[in-house]
Amino acid sequence: VGEIKIKDVHKSFPNTEPGKEDIVALNGINLEIKPGSFVSLIGPSGCGKSTLLRIIGGLDRASEGEIYLDDKEIKKPGSDRGFAFQGSNLFPWLTVENNIAFGLKARHIYKKDKEEVQNFVKLVGLEGFEKSYPHQLSGGMQQRASLARALVGHPAVLLLDEPLGALDAFTRMNLQDEILNIWKKNNMTMIMVTHDVDEAIYMSDQVVVMSARPSKVEAIIDIDLPRP
Ligand code: ADP
Ligand code: ADP
Repeated sequence: VGEIKIKDVHKSFPNTEPGKEDIVALNGINLEIKPGSFVSLIGPSGCGKSTLLRIIGGLDRASEGEIYLDDKEIKKPGSDRGFAFQGSNLFPWLTVENNIAFGLKARHIYKKDKEEVQNFVKLVGLEGFEKSYPHQLSGGMQQRASLARALVGHPAVLLLDEPLGALDAFTRMNLQDEILNIWKKNNMTMIMVTHDVDEAIYMSDQVVVMSARPSKVEAIIDIDLPRP
């Protein structure tokens, strides 16, 4: 599970300046992503990386074209896909454990969910911080909590939009290895947007290079480096 087929996807946004043409964010994207692979999306700012990720996540719809997950067309968000954004996308009014439980669509933590939440708290190394609020955590810890929230439903596909963007080099390196471990353990398809080419090469099986104007897939590079 976790195979993604992207077929001739276009996306335009209406221009807010009156009389101006639509903004073409994606201009015919074709891509096949193997189940269980780790794919990075790189390319200049504004080339449509986030837009593509959002469409795979079902948070946005393509203007034209289709996306399939295991031969089922993606039209809306689903528990088969977890999503974590750059910076903190945690709910500031919820504790760490309630943020993670939100990934289970639980308003209150029931007994079974509590165990599951605790498993993921452990996985990302946040034991002791279950009752903390996001603002009480460092940037790296907030990223870990976001990851846990994205992972808690055991999605087949994890979508990461610059998950390590706002972090110092040391925290970043540690979390790169942590994400790789989580990926290996959970047998998921990973799609990660990054601005860091070294990070893309270090972490991925495949680096997809996108170009801007027109926004297309410029190159697909297979990486075969030993991983830690
Ligand atoms: P990237 O992630 O590669 O930096 P984005 O996907 O964020 O690129 O954006 C691609 C293009 O689409 C940019 O020109 C951006 O300004 C535009 N865009 C993205 N989201 C919207 C939106 N909701 N409304 C209007 N334009 C948007
Ligand atoms: P990134 O480069 O990390 O994708 P952006 O700053 O381009 O971040 O976009 C952040 C958010 O703002 C995204 O959700 C995107 O859809 C939205 N966005 C980007 N450009 C525009 C725009 N021109 N008009 C409205 N929303 C936009």
